[in-house]
Parts: sequence; C-alpha cells; structure tokens
Amino acid sequence: MRAEEVRLVYGSPIVLLLNLVNAAVAVSLLWTLFPAEALLLWLALFMAVVPARLWLWRRFRQAKPGPEAMGRWALAATLGAAATGMLWGALGTVFFVTTEPIYYVFVVFVLGGMTAGSALKDSAYLPSFYAFMAPAVGPTVLALMARGGFMFDEMGLMIVVFTIVLILVGRGNNRWIQDSIRLRIDQTVLNADLQRATAQMAENLEALRRHQRDMSSIAKLSDFLQACQRRDEAYPIIETAAARLFPGLSGALALLSPDTQDLETVSRWGKDPTVSDSFHVDDCWALRTGQVYEVASAETPAQCRHFPDPPEGGYLCLPLNVQGETIGLLHLSVPPDREIDEDTHRLMATFGDVIKLSLSNLKLRESLSEQALRDPLTGVFNRRYLAETLPREIRRARRDRTDLTVAMIDVDHFKAFNDTYGHGAGDLVLKEVGAFLNRSLRAGDIACRYGGEEFLLVLAECDADEAHARLAQLCTDIKLKAFAFRKQLLPNITVSVGIAQMEDGLTAAEPLITAADQALYKAKADGRDRIEIFKPGKSAAA
Ligand code: GH3
Ligand code: MG
Ligand code: MG
Repeated sequence: MRAEEVRLVYGSPIVLLLNLVNAAVAVSLLWTLFPAEALLLWLALFMAVVPARLWLWRRFRQAKPGPEAMGRWALAATLGAAATGMLWGALGTVFFVTTEPIYYVFVVFVLGGMTAGSALKDSAYLPSFYAFMAPAVGPTVLALMARGGFMFDEMGLMIVVFTIVLILVGRGNNRWIQDSIRLRIDQTVLNADLQRATAQMAENLEALRRHQRDMSSIAKLSDFLQACQRRDEAYPIIETAAARLFPGLSGALALLSPDTQDLETVSRWGKDPTVSDSFHVDDCWALRTGQVYEVASAETPAQCRHFPDPPEGGYLCLPLNVQGETIGLLHLSVPPDREIDEDTHRLMATFGDVIKLSLSNLKLRESLSEQALRDPLTGVFNRRYLAETLPREIRRARRDRTDLTVAMIDVDHFKAFNDTYGHGAGDLVLKEVGAFLNRSLRAGDIACRYGGEEFLLVLAECDADEAHARLAQLCTDIKLKAFAFRKQLLPNITVSVGIAQMEDGLTAAEPLITAADQALYKAKADGRDRIEIFKPGKSAAA
C-alpha cells in the first residue's frame, strides 16, 4: 500500500516545475524591497532543492524500485517536501514588511497555490504532505499574528481555516487514493489467480486427453493381444503400442526361461538399443528384488548390467510377475535431459499389467495346443497332428519337387512282451522308443504314434533308399537299447519297418500310409526285425 502511495508521489513533475515559475515571480516582486544578496541566496537555495527533487523523480522513474526499497524513497520525498515547504515559509514571512495590498494578494496566490497543489499531489502520501504544509504555512501565520491589528489577525485566521480545509481535502483525497490502490491490488491478485486457474485447467484438460488417448491405445493393444495365437505374434504388436505410448523413449521386453534363469529380449522400441539380446536374472535389480527399479541418472551407483552400452540417462525396470512368478522384464530408458514422471510410472504399470497377462495366457494356450497334438505316453505327435500335417507336407514336396518318404514302425511280438513283463514294462518301452525317435529325427521330420505300438515317421527331403539307410541305423540302436523296469533289466526288443516313397500314383496321405503298412506287413511276414520298401508293382500281390 505504502509503495503504491509513494509511487503516486513520484507521479508527475508539473507541480515541481510550477514551483520554479512561482519562485522567479516572487523574487522579481521583492527585488526593490530587499537586499539583492538575501534574495539571490534564497533563490540559490531554491534552485538547489527543486532540481534535486526533479533528479530524484527521474531516478525513481528509471530505477522502478520494488516495495523493499520504498522506505528510502518515501524518506527522500518527505525531506524534499519539507525543504521546499521551509523555503516557501521563509519567503511568506517577509512579504509583510510592506503594507502594499498587491503583496498580500500575492501571498494568497503564491502560498495558496503551492499548498493547494501539494494537497492534490502530496496527499497520496500523507507524511510528505504534512512535511510541506507545516513549514510553508506555520511561519507566515506566526508572522501575521506577531504584526497585530485587525486585518493581519483576520488574514492569519483565514490562512489557518484555509489550511484546515486543505488538510481535510488532502486526507479525503488520500482515503480515496488508498481505496483505489486497494481495489487495483485486489484486481491484480484476482487476475493473477484467474490466470493461474485457467492455466491449471488447461494443463489438467491436456493431461486428461493424454490419459484418454493412452487408455484407448491400451484397450486396442489388449484386443490385438487377445486375437494372437502365439507369443511371437504378440511381440511386434507390443513394440508398436509401446512406441506410441512412450514417444521419445526407448525400451524393451525380455522374457524369462525358467529352466536357465536367462532372459531373452523379444521386443524393442525407440532408437537406442537399451537391453542386451540375452542376460541373466541377476543382471537386473528389478528381477532380483521383484520390485520396480528406477534409476534417476547415469551417475546412480547401483546400475543394472543388462545393457550393451552404459545408459546415458535414467531408466525404469518393471518385473512382470504373474501369480507370484516372474515371467519377464519391461524396461524403459529416458534421455539424459528428461525425468521419469508420475504419468510414465503409471502408464508403464498399466502397460505391464496388460502384456504380462496376455503373454501368460498365450503361453498357456501354446502349451495346451502342444499337449493336444502330442501323445501323452510317448511324447511324439498324435494321429490328429498327422492328419493335419501329412497332406501339407505332401503338397510342399510336390510343389518343391523334393522327395518324401513315410515309414511305419511296429514293435515285434509286443503282445507277448506285455504278457510276460506286464503292461507297465510295455508302457516304459513305448515311452523310451518315443523319446528316442524324437531325439533322433531331423528338424523337418515328424514322428507320431499311429496305433498301440506302431509309430509313423514322415521323412522330408528323403527318398526310399536314404530312408532305408537311416532306419537301419535306428533299428540297430533300438535293438541295442537296454530297458530297465522296477530295477529289472528287460530283454531287448526288435522292430519291423515298412517304407513308402511319394511317387506317381502315391500322392495322397491315405494311399501312402497304406503302402507303408503293406510293406510292413511284408517285413512281418518275412520274419520280422527287418525293413521293407514298398514296390508299386508288387502291391497287389502283397
Ligand atoms: P507282431 O506285431 O510282431 O505281429 O506281434 P504283436 O504281438 O506286436 O501283435 P499286435 O501288433 O497285434 O499286438 C499289439 C499289442 O501291443 C497288443 C497290446 O498288448 C500292445 N499294446 C498296444 N498298445 C499298448 C500300450 O499303450 N501299452 C502297452 N503296454 N501295450 C500296448
Ligand atoms: Mg507288433
Ligand atoms: Mg501292431
């Protein structure tokens, strides 16, 4: 409040400039009545005070002082007003050396004008107003009273009344100024509040919009993930969603292999490679502790060790836990000039929740469909799988003009084996033969359980002769295999094999299998423990 009052006192220099004019007029009027030295001394003092006040005014305008410096400026204004008041007071007393009425009129005009001007201007700050009024009016009134006589007493009284009125006007003026200052301050505060509130509202609205956008991206991601059949279909979808959700940031998704405790990075986004292709659980603090791990900057001492190059900024590691089990890691890196804010934390957690549930569902689905296609006892594929894949393999072989051979394997005298050593021992033999076949075949080959103790092999890019050679080795290995059941060594087994190669007239699954079966029949008929290749010409005889 006082700062604003003082600012008004330093408002306009017009009254100060009028002082100079009045002083010149006063000196010229008194020139013949007073010694020139006294008048010039007064004028010199005047010319020192008023320009000093003008200089102060200029300094104030340039410095634009804050409220803390206002005390000194108020004092300077008050001293300036007091000095001017004293000079006018001094001159007022000496006008009465003469009885010429023109001088009295002059006193009224000059002093009255000066004090009235001050009442308008200095009343903004009352101390400077009083500092001017008291020395300007007081000595004149005293001089008039001291002269005595009716006219002088009346004049003194009139000046006193005039001064009282001026003071009342000045105080009223001051109250009005204070009110308007208060109003202005209130308005400024209100405006600032309004501006702040508006900015805050805009910021909230933007955050809300961003949140909505992110949530709809997450919902879309969830839909897409539900439509996936396998995990490897999900990885590029996760990548795309992450790039949209975390613009400007780099990150990765790594999945844990529970047997080895190693993680393999399956998705990456952003421009920096943030995580190595594979790493161990112990390389990440989040995986070790099972909690989110945030690193604020590259200077943080405890850094994870799963980076190809040391990270330049901060990062966030989020372990993906499903039902108390860790399935992987979600990682997000930020550039050195950015911080990880609350929103990023929250979004990362939601994103992690969605992908970890989808991934564990997909894993479950994969293992269920794998189970549905495998024979539970022997671990080789079942007939359902064969029915799906053999026609496909035939089509591919015909298109690529490559060979394809099927081989039917049947254990010899297995009924007798079961009868002698029990069904449990028979099961064990079938299980081990199945595992052996799975181990021995090439990547493109298929082994399946065709019936009780019959296995069917589909050998891709392999003709009948090559199949014969490979199966001869397999049969020898099976024959040499030792089986032990309940600590009892079982006798070795032998198998018979029928082979049929895809060729003219044998280009569908059923005829091909039948042909292999016929060859097997011949192998059995010829004495078992042998391999027979189907010969088209002989098929009718067989
Ligand atoms: P061969 O083939 O040499 O002519 O004589 P075989 O005794 O093996 O004859 P066959 O193929 O007719 O007999 C099949 C036997 O396999 C009948 C059954 O006891 C046995 N078997 C079939 N499935 C299973 C099974 O899942 N477990 C066990 N333990 N035995 C099975
Ligand atoms: Mg048999
Ligand atoms: Mg059989």
